[in-house]
Parts: sequence; structure tokens; C-alpha cells
Amino acid sequence: MRPLEQLLRPNIRNLKPYSSARDEYTGDEGVFLDANENPFNAPYNRYPDPYQRKLKDKIAKLKQVDASGIFLGNGSDEPIDIVYRAFCEPGRDNVVSIDPTYGMYQVAADINNVEFRKVLLTEDFQLDVNALLAATDSNTKVIFLCSPNNPTGNCFKEDDIKDLLIEFNGIVVLDEAYIDFAPGKSFLQKLDLFPNLIILQTFSKAWGMAGIRLGMAFANPEIIKVFSKIKYPYNLNILTQQKTFELIDNIAEKDNWIDILFKQRDELIKNVQELPFVKKVYPTDANFILIKTDEPKKIYNYLVDSKIIIRDRSSVSLCAGCLRITVGSPEENSVLMDALKKFA
Ligand code: PMP
Repeated sequence: MRPLEQLLRPNIRNLKPYSSARDEYTGDEGVFLDANENPFNAPYNRYPDPYQRKLKDKIAKLKQVDASGIFLGNGSDEPIDIVYRAFCEPGRDNVVSIDPTYGMYQVAADINNVEFRKVLLTEDFQLDVNALLAATDSNTKVIFLCSPNNPTGNCFKEDDIKDLLIEFNGIVVLDEAYIDFAPGKSFLQKLDLFPNLIILQTFSKAWGMAGIRLGMAFANPEIIKVFSKIKYPYNLNILTQQKTFELIDNIAEKDNWIDILFKQRDELIKNVQELPFVKKVYPTDANFILIKTDEPKKIYNYLVDSKIIIRDRSSVSLCAGCLRITVGSPEENSVLMDALKKFA
């Protein structure tokens, strides 16, 4: 890996972060006349902890990592954007990613005016390690990967990810948004081996908290320090921090949801396979399935007319004819199947 100093944008390397009123005093008790808050309407009148210490300690225990290696953001979309702002000089640097994959990597690149180089996956949706490395040059700061990948649903081979981490001298972002639904292990416990690895996870999927926005980035503490300098001081509100804390205490509920979703996923795959217009159901390690048909748009529009919304992915690379369907509750899945069985 190139030294972090060389990978960072010069303005970020030299950035003096905003110092908030709550930086200097960390206790809960006191007369707080430092931040121009309103003394009424507790507890919402107070700014949240900008360092999210309690929640980070909780997540550190949950994930068995050190709290200094955790960044918390407004969904994982926030750290995706911060990766660009930290490492990529607009108009000069570039990133390399896979195609197809989650659309926000490209959108965040476009917003930040950073060149986004796409490398096709293989026909079986795996990484083409040599092609990815060949697409890099001395201005490539980051490689974005997503495993299990969206929209293909599969995990990449562990050795391929390791090869990229070893061979590429910049940052590798590994988005594990769907890791709780995958049989394979997260790369979290390998963070110590790879100083250039940033892992993204989220509370939006397995934990059922997309509405309150909490994403995580795990990386070596030097990278996390830089991310924390860039973020808005109070990027996580009080309600999100409290609610997440409570849900982590109630982990059995999340595990139960995952069990239900696994069973529903198996059943959905079995049922969808029996439909005459479904040509292929791709293997999935996520909470969605990808199916191939001859008339994706017709099926999509037919379902919308019945107020059932799935995702048309037929114009995405390697996904001609494909529709992506999230695994829902037993009731939602049976509404979907009833409608699909009536499609002629
Ligand atoms: N990564 C992937 C691969 C996703 O599919 C999504 C959401 N669809 C996200 C990240 C965004 O997650 P969050 O809600 O944490 O911003």
C-alpha cells in the first residue's frame, strides 16, 4: 500500500476539523451553556455526541473490533461519499469498480467529479482480478467491491478479494451490506492483515432499520480518524443512536427475522422456478433474488399495476432480461406469487 499520506488529498491531509462545543467536555452531567441550545424539550434539545462513543463501544463488542476502527454514518451512503472526498482529487484521480454493482459508487464519483472505471464481472458474476488491476493506473486511489454483490446477489471468491488487497497499492472498499444473509464470513476479522481495506456494513438490511439511517465503515484507525474529520460534526442524530443501541440489546429479534427470511428466500426461489416464463433464478447470498425472463418490462409493469413493486434490472450489464425481487414477509411473498401465477 502507498503510504496513507500519499493516498489522501492534500487539502484533507492538512484539514483542521471543525471543533464543536462538545469536544472539550465529555460528561453527561452539568449545566450546558456552551452550544446555544434551548434548555427546554429534553432530551431532544441537546446536540448528539459527535463521536458517538456509547454506540461505537456497543458496536465494537457486537462486531469484535476495536472502537477506534469504526466510523458511523448516515447510512453506508455517507462513508461511500467520504471515501471520494478523502482520497480522490476531482478531475485528476480515478476509482475502479465492477459492473454491474450498486449504483451509488458511480453517482458519488460523478458528484465528486471523479472518473469511475467499470470492469465487467465474468459471465458467472465473479471478479476478473487481472482486468481490475489492469484498469488501475498511478491516479487510481480506490477499488470499490461489493460482496454479496447487488444486483447479482452472489459473494465473490475470498482469494480473489485477497489478491486485489495484496496486489493493489491503494484503498479497497468492500461493501458487505448483505453479509448477514451470506454463508461465507465477513472480512472484518481480517482488517489487521490489510491496512488498505475499508469494510462497509449497514443496519438497513438484516437489522431492519433502513428508515433511521445507520451505516458503518470499519478500517484501520488512521483512516477512521480522517473520515471523522470530514463528516458533519453531528451526522448521527440522538434518535438513531438510541434506537440502534436498543436493537443491539435485542439481537434475538434480528436473528429471528433472518431465520424467517432464509425460509422465505428458499420458498420464493422454489415457487418462482416453477413459473413458465422464468428462464433462470440465479443463486443468491442476499435478501433478494435475481430472475431472468424474456419479458422483464411487461412483468414489471404488470406487477406495478397490482401495486407490487420490484426492480427492473434488465438494462444493467450482464443482466439482460433480469428482475430483482426483495424477499418480503410471508404475506408479501404470497401476494407476489398469486399475481405472478396470473401473469399470462
Ligand atoms: N450498499 C449496497 C450494496 C446496497 O445495496 C445499499 C442499499 N440498497 C447500500 C449500500 C445503502 O445502504 P444504506 O441504507 O446503509 O445507505
